Amino acid sequence: MNVIFLGPPGAGKGTIAKEIKDLANVIHLSTGDMLREEMRNGTELGKMAKQYIEEGKLVPDEVIIGMVESKLKSSDKGILFDGFPRTVDQAKALDQFAKIDAVINLYTTVDVIVKRVGGRRICRDCGKVFNTSWYDSDRCDECGGELYTRTDDTEETIKKRYEVYVEQTEPLVDYYREKGILHDIDANGEIQEKVDKIKAIFDNVQ
Ligand code: AMP
Repeated sequence: MNVIFLGPPGAGKGTIAKEIKDLANVIHLSTGDMLREEMRNGTELGKMAKQYIEEGKLVPDEVIIGMVESKLKSSDKGILFDGFPRTVDQAKALDQFAKIDAVINLYTTVDVIVKRVGGRRICRDCGKVFNTSWYDSDRCDECGGELYTRTDDTEETIKKRYEVYVEQTEPLVDYYREKGILHDIDANGEIQEKVDKIKAIFDNVQ
């Protein structure tokens, strides 16, 4: 089963994907995480991606498509795509190399996003996501790892990323709705409620 998590930055795509990937026996493929790893390793791809990411812009399609395609070749499990595709051209390329069974559209409003992303802290070791509105420690409650703020989680960049989402990624909602595989989920609900709804969708398409 191949599934896409669609939604603006801060909608909770990564958090829900981490919760659900073992239950659905799929690999979590986050293009944002892959790019951040390239940046940490100081690769040419990472250096090139850094400038786009820090300005809140999208990394060029051909770079992202090549990166995803090579990852898919090395996997024989289903994939949970998080943050990919982000443009219609990426979606068309994905159609060439994978059959998509369901698209989960996590919808929310810009005010919620600015609040959520603005207070976001991430564990350096296990990737768990926290928010200063409900968590005030510098250490992860699961593994004790140090929490950090992403360099693209500044107020200015968040607004830019939301604009980019509306212009370049939101058209994918119609793209997948027309294919009859889109499922809308309110991103503002409780995490367990969202996980349960998504699990029910997965059970129907499996
Ligand atoms: P994310 O962690 O998904 O919020 O992604 C962080 C940043 O990585 C984005 O703001 C983009 O600059 C870049 N990025 C991640 N995925 C893609 C993609 N599919 N296409 C283009 N740029 C991407």
